[in-house]
Amino acid sequence: MGKQKSHAVKFIGSFPNIVPPATFPEVAFVGRSNVGKSSALNAILNRKKAARVSQRPGRTQAVNLFHVDDQLCFADLPGYGFARVPEAVRIQWQALVEGYLFDRKGLNLVVQLVDARHEAQPLDLTMVKLLKDTGLDYILLATKLDLVKRGRRAHHVARLRKALGVPANRIIPFSSKDRTGVDTVWSTVLPLVR
Ligand code: GDP
Repeated sequence: MGKQKSHAVKFIGSFPNIVPPATFPEVAFVGRSNVGKSSALNAILNRKKAARVSQRPGRTQAVNLFHVDDQLCFADLPGYGFARVPEAVRIQWQALVEGYLFDRKGLNLVVQLVDARHEAQPLDLTMVKLLKDTGLDYILLATKLDLVKRGRRAHHVARLRKALGVPANRIIPFSSKDRTGVDTVWSTVLPLVR
């Protein structure tokens, strides 16, 4: 699985309740809605639109599974932090995502996206805490870094790292637009299939 080539992506399905058992080592992607998760998936997979466009609030929340190069499974988890969602939707999100993260056999790595432009949001912190509680391996992508002035980028990444309380090697400077960090993601993911 090379880093530069476009990867073979097979959409398996969208699962609002029960997610079928994993057949490959799995990598899950989480983040605030609109953080750039679909764009990051497309950049990582070197595809124009492997991941569907952002889900809108009110739509059924689901785990979307993709097989990658018949070796890996990517799980796109529903985004959090939609403004003004009904309580029922928030509860459904929590049940689906927590159930998945705590129970999923074959889940090897969680990739959480955070917006490099802003300070850590309370829900980002809650998510990181949840990941720490699960004991899963995780990395954070500080994405949309191209939108931060060059001279401020290191500061923004360090600020997020401190606020979220993660080691420096767990947070990857990232941009879907200029592909910063894509190789680093692959060097974390590839050992899962070797
Ligand atoms: P999602 O809701 O998390 O899946 O977010 P999307 O991938 O749909 O991205 C939300 C918006 O942010 C879209 O307008 C994207 O074009 C934009 N976006 C996402 N990632 C980047 C990035 O790395 N750089 C820039 N400049 N824009 C981005």
